[in-house]
Amino acid sequence: MSPALRNLAAGMVATIVLVFSLSGHAAAESTYSFDTTPGKLPKAVIPVHYAIELTPDLKSLGIAGVEVVDIEVREPTTRLVLNAVDITLSAVSIDDEAQAAEIALDAATETATLTFPKMLAAGPHRLRIGFAARINAFARGLFFVDYPTDNGMKRMLASHLEPADARRIFPCWDEPAFKATFALTVTVPRNFLGVGNMPVTREEPVAPDSKRVAFAPTPKMSSYLFVFAAGELERLTAEADGVTVGVVTTAGKREQGRFALDNAVKLLDYYNDYFGVKYPLPKLDLIAVPGGHGGAMENWGGIIFFESRLLFDPSTNADTARRGVFSILAHEMAHLWFGDLVTMGWWDNIWLNEGFASWMQVKAAEHFYPQWQTWLNDNSQKQLAMALDARRTSHPIQQPVADQSEAMATFDGITYSKGQALIRMLENYLGETAFANGIRNYMAAHAYGNTTTADLWQSLESAAGKPVTGIAASFTEQDGVPLIVAETNCDGDTQRMTLRQDRFVIVPAPSSAAGSQAAVLPARSWQVPISVGPLRATQPAEPILLQGSSEIAAGSCGEAVKVNLDDVGYFRTEYGPNSLKALAKSLALMTPSDRLNFVADSWALVQAGRAEPQSYLALIEQISADDHRALWDQVIGTLTWLDRLARDHGERPALQAYARARLRPLFDRLGWDGSGSGDDNATLLRSSLIRALGDLGDEDILAEARRRFAGFLKNPQSLPNALRDSVTHLVGIGADRASYDTLLALARKTTVTNERLRYYYAAASARDATLARTTLALTLTDELPSTIVGGVIYTVGLSGEQPELAWEFVKANFDALAAKQGPSFGDAFIASFMTNFSDEAHAVELAHFAPAQASTGGRVMAARALETIAIAADLKTRALPAIDAWIKARNGGRP
Ligand SMILES: [Zn+2]
Repeated sequence: MSPALRNLAAGMVATIVLVFSLSGHAAAESTYSFDTTPGKLPKAVIPVHYAIELTPDLKSLGIAGVEVVDIEVREPTTRLVLNAVDITLSAVSIDDEAQAAEIALDAATETATLTFPKMLAAGPHRLRIGFAARINAFARGLFFVDYPTDNGMKRMLASHLEPADARRIFPCWDEPAFKATFALTVTVPRNFLGVGNMPVTREEPVAPDSKRVAFAPTPKMSSYLFVFAAGELERLTAEADGVTVGVVTTAGKREQGRFALDNAVKLLDYYNDYFGVKYPLPKLDLIAVPGGHGGAMENWGGIIFFESRLLFDPSTNADTARRGVFSILAHEMAHLWFGDLVTMGWWDNIWLNEGFASWMQVKAAEHFYPQWQTWLNDNSQKQLAMALDARRTSHPIQQPVADQSEAMATFDGITYSKGQALIRMLENYLGETAFANGIRNYMAAHAYGNTTTADLWQSLESAAGKPVTGIAASFTEQDGVPLIVAETNCDGDTQRMTLRQDRFVIVPAPSSAAGSQAAVLPARSWQVPISVGPLRATQPAEPILLQGSSEIAAGSCGEAVKVNLDDVGYFRTEYGPNSLKALAKSLALMTPSDRLNFVADSWALVQAGRAEPQSYLALIEQISADDHRALWDQVIGTLTWLDRLARDHGERPALQAYARARLRPLFDRLGWDGSGSGDDNATLLRSSLIRALGDLGDEDILAEARRRFAGFLKNPQSLPNALRDSVTHLVGIGADRASYDTLLALARKTTVTNERLRYYYAAASARDATLARTTLALTLTDELPSTIVGGVIYTVGLSGEQPELAWEFVKANFDALAAKQGPSFGDAFIASFMTNFSDEAHAVELAHFAPAQASTGGRVMAARALETIAIAADLKTRALPAIDAWIKARNGGRP
C-alpha cells in the first residue's frame, strides 16, 4: 500500500457515520460491549494476568501445573466460575493462601466453580491453583506428535486451542472477551527447544536432563491464542523491522522453511502498512508440526502449521506448492491483526476473523504474485460457499453460537468463503482506498480489544462516506444467496435491462431422501451491489445498488450485457432468453472471470432445478481447449462430481466415455512432459487432467501412469515433482497386492511428511476390497499419524469407492477410533464421511447414529450432511438420466 494512502487515513471525517446510522437499514446488532457480549461465564470477575507453570511428562502424558492469576473482582462474590475440562484441580487459594476454596467441576459446561468461605471484596485479588492436565493424542489442548526421523521415532509437543481448548491445559476464563496477559514457564527436556507466544527470557537446568524455560509476558490477548510447542526443533530467523521472524521445524528441516520465512518478512511489512498498526510483538514464529491438525492456527507470536502446509522442499514439492504455502501464511498472518490484535467478542462473529483473513490472503497473493491470478483460480471457494448457502441448513455468517461444540461447527465454508466474497464485494463497492482507510480506523480504535461486526461497518462507513451497514447486514444477518433475474428488451435501437431479485435455492425434491418436508425456503431481500454492463466496456462500470428490482439502459439492441462483471459479486444470475442468447454467442468476448462466472452460474441453475443439465453440457462444448485453467477446473470438477454420483449406476460408462472425450483433447495438447514443470497454469492443469482422466477410466493414462511410476522407483528424478501426486494416486486406485505393498513400503520409509501422506492416501485409494480392508485395519494401529486417520478412511470411501466397507468398519471400531481421534471424530468426521453416500438408507443411519447427534455442533453438522445426501439423491434421479439421453442423442443414438 502506498504512503499516500496512510495520509488519507489520518484525515478521516468521523461525522458521516452518524448520518448513515440514523438513516435507513440499521443493523440489529450493536457495537461491542463486554457486559452484553454472549458467553457462558459470569462477568463479575475478570482475569488480568496469568503466571502459568507447566511440567509436561512426555511418557505418562500428564501435565503438572500451577498458576497464579491476578483477577479483578467487579462485584463482591464468594464464587469464581472459570473453564476447565479434563483437568483436576487441587490446592486452590486466594490472596496468599488466606482462603482455600471448595472446588466443583462440571464436565458438561466445562467449568470449575470455586467457592470461598468469605466474600471477596471488589478489587484486585490473586488466585492460586494447582492442577493436573493431560497431553492429548488428538490436536486439542496440548498434544503430542510422534514422527519418524533418520534416528528413529521422536516425540514433540504442540498446542491447538481454538475455539475453546485452553481449558484443557490450564484453568482459565476461556472466552474471547476475557483478554489478559499470560506469562508461561515450562519444564522440558534439556535437548528441547521450547516456543511460546513471546521470546524466552530465561532458561535454567533443573535436573540432569531437564530445564525450566520462561517466556516474556504476552500483551493482552484472548486465551485461545496461547501457544506452546517443544521438541528437538531448530529455528531459522530473519529480522523484519525490529521483529524477529522465525521458522521452527523438527531437526534437519529448517532450510525447507526458507520460502515461508522470506514471504513472512514481506507480508509483515505489507500488513504493517495496510493495517496502519505495527505488529506489536517482538517476534513471530512459524512452527511446522509434522502431525497435528491439518491446517494452521494463528496463535499470537507462534503460528502453528501442519508441516506440509508450511515447508517447501524443492526436491520433493512441485513448484506450484508455493502457492498453497503463501496462501495459508498470508491467511494466518492477517489474523495477527484481524483476530489477535482485534478479536470478535464471541464466536457468533467468528466470520469477522475468518472472512477477513480469507479475503486478505488473496489480496496479498494478488499483490505479491499477480501471475497466480488467485481470485480467478480459487473461484471454487466461492462456488462452494454459494452451494452451501443455497440450502435449508445454511446459516447467516453471523449467527448465535450456544457453546464450544457449536462454535466448532461454524468453521465452515460459509464462514470462510462467503465472508471472503462479501468483503471482496464491499471493497469493490466502497473503493480500495476508502476500504483500507476504514480498516485502519477499525484497527486503531479497537487494538487489544474486542468487537462485533457492527464496529467494522461503522469504521467502513465513516471512511467511505457510503452506507455499508444495510448492504452488509443483508448478507451477514440472513442466510441465503441472492438470485438476480436479468432480461434485455429492445426499445427501438437501444435496449433496456430489467433486474429483479429472488432467492437462489437448492433443496431436494420432496420425494427424495430426507426431503419429505422440503418446501421453498422463505423469501429474502438484499441490498446487492451489482456491476453490470456490455462485455467490451473500456471502463469498469460503477456498481449499482439493487434493492428489489430495477430497469437500466443496456446499450444497443441485441448487445450482450453481462451481470456480475469480473465475478466480484456474491449472487447467482439467471438470464432471460434474450440476454442468454446474446451472451451465449459472445462467450469468446468475455474475460476468463466473466466466462467462468457465466459457466458456474449455468451449472448452479441445473443444481437448483431451474435449468436442464443439457444447457450446461451444451455450454461447455463451446469452451475452447486453450481456455483458462480456471474454466477447465470448473468443468473437471463438475464432470468428476457427476461421475461419483453415477457410481453403481447404469449411466456411468457412457458418462465416463463422454467426460474422457471432452477432456482428452486438452491433455493431448499439453502432453505428459510439456514445457517442464514450472509454477504455471499448464503444469497445474496437466496434473489435474491426468488424475481426472485416470479416475474416469482412461486406459492409456492409467497404463502410462503405471509405467512412469515404475520408472520413478528405479530413478526418482525421472518423475517430475509436479506429476507425483497424480501418478501415485492412479497407481493407488488400480493397485494389486504388489503395488499396494510398494506404496506402503514407501510411506514407511520416508521421513518427509508430504511424501508419507501421498503414499498412504494412494494406498487408501485402492479399489480392491481386500486391499481396502488392509488399509482400514492400519487405522487401528499406531502406524498412521493420527491427523490423517480420518482422511484415510474417507479416501477408502471416496477414491477407493468402498464407502460401505469403510462405514461398516467405522461402526464396528467406533470406540477405538474415537478414543484416539478425540471429540470431533463422532461429529465432524462422521457427518463428512456420510456424504460419500447419496441414498436414503444411509441418511437414516446417520440420523440415528448416536455419536453424531450427541452435541449441539454434532447435530448441526449431521443435519447439513443429511441435506447434502438428499440433494445428491435428488440430482441423481433428475440429472443422470437426462445427461445420459443427451449424450446418446449427441452420439447419434450410440451409447
Ligand atoms: Zn483463519
